[in-house]
Amino acid sequence: MRATDGAPDAVGTIEPAVAWLTVDLGAIVTNWRRIRDHVAPAECAAVVKADAYGLGASRIAPALAEAGCRLFFVARLAEAMALRLVLPEVEIAVLDGLEPFGPDAFIADRLIPVLSEAVCARRWITHCRSIGAARPAILHLDTGLNRLGIQGEKLDDLLAEHPEAASFPWRAVISHLACATEADHPMNPHQRDAFRSLATRFPGRPLSLAATSGCYLGADYAFDLVRPGAGLYGIAPFEDGPNPFAQAVRMTAKILQARSIDTGECVGYGAAFVASAPTRVATIAAGYADGFPRAAGGIGVVHLGAIPLPVIGRISMDLMTVDVSGVPVEAVRPGAEVDLLGPHRMVDALARDAGTIGYEILTRLGTRLPRRYLDA
Ligand SMILES: *Cc1c(COP(=O)(O)O)cnc(C)c1O
Repeated sequence: MRATDGAPDAVGTIEPAVAWLTVDLGAIVTNWRRIRDHVAPAECAAVVKADAYGLGASRIAPALAEAGCRLFFVARLAEAMALRLVLPEVEIAVLDGLEPFGPDAFIADRLIPVLSEAVCARRWITHCRSIGAARPAILHLDTGLNRLGIQGEKLDDLLAEHPEAASFPWRAVISHLACATEADHPMNPHQRDAFRSLATRFPGRPLSLAATSGCYLGADYAFDLVRPGAGLYGIAPFEDGPNPFAQAVRMTAKILQARSIDTGECVGYGAAFVASAPTRVATIAAGYADGFPRAAGGIGVVHLGAIPLPVIGRISMDLMTVDVSGVPVEAVRPGAEVDLLGPHRMVDALARDAGTIGYEILTRLGTRLPRRYLDA
């Protein structure tokens, strides 16, 4: 495996850094194949919104396309336009729908709007009629999440006024689960059955309900198409339970300084840590501006090789401090590298320390961290 820098202007060189991310494209492809094989014969798309959950859509989507993924979901039109420049051939769907530019922007870049409003569905059908071509769009139905999607009664009105909405060649008809990370939540079968019933109005159209977690709720959740995001990047499908996915990201930072302190001395802002015994402290070049959550101060651990180092004191913007009392002095010299995420610290584990979810950890990884890529 070869590490290459993510910056487009870095021609084969890796800029020196004190903190960086290593994104394992091979692990992401492996995770995608794992889901694809699990849900086969359903089609497996890939969700790469928010710059592929912070890890770099312009590198990750081509690796997935190479592995056979044909359909990508993003949230915003701008994300889709950027992805179109990198991948001229694949299908790209935009979860936001027609905002902010309307149908022409989608037609121009061959993008697929996900239509969550009856008025947008009407507008798309009318636009397609005016250009004499039924361009692909996805219809989004709400089955209980009450966030986006056409509600049942609005769907009745749409189909009554525009009977052609039932026969329009939708690329897919989709809905989204509210509680899929809890395998035995009653919302899951409730939404599955509601979706199945609403979908009877669109005979022959590909149906899609499951994101990552939904893929693991049972074969009757896969329908014709699944839309995983989180699992590709190593986030587990369920809050409790095993993680079938490979860790895709490593966050590494260097030790800048190490020191010894006496009993009663404090460390960091607010004097939040007070040594109860002589302690060796190392200061690491990463803080909350890099995406290490401030809420994990005094709780989390980082790793020097396989050795866990407890985080002590508050996390600062650019720095954090760890207890290295148990480590040989020569191993914690300035320049030594520690992993904040990596083989010994999964994204979900750091998220639990910080009282959040893996999705938030990934999407808040600092933009100033260079992304280095291990090729698939
Ligand atoms: C974000 C999103 C997904 C992907 O969800 P994961 O839990 O990350 O797999 C799928 N569908 C919709 C509508 C989404 O908003």
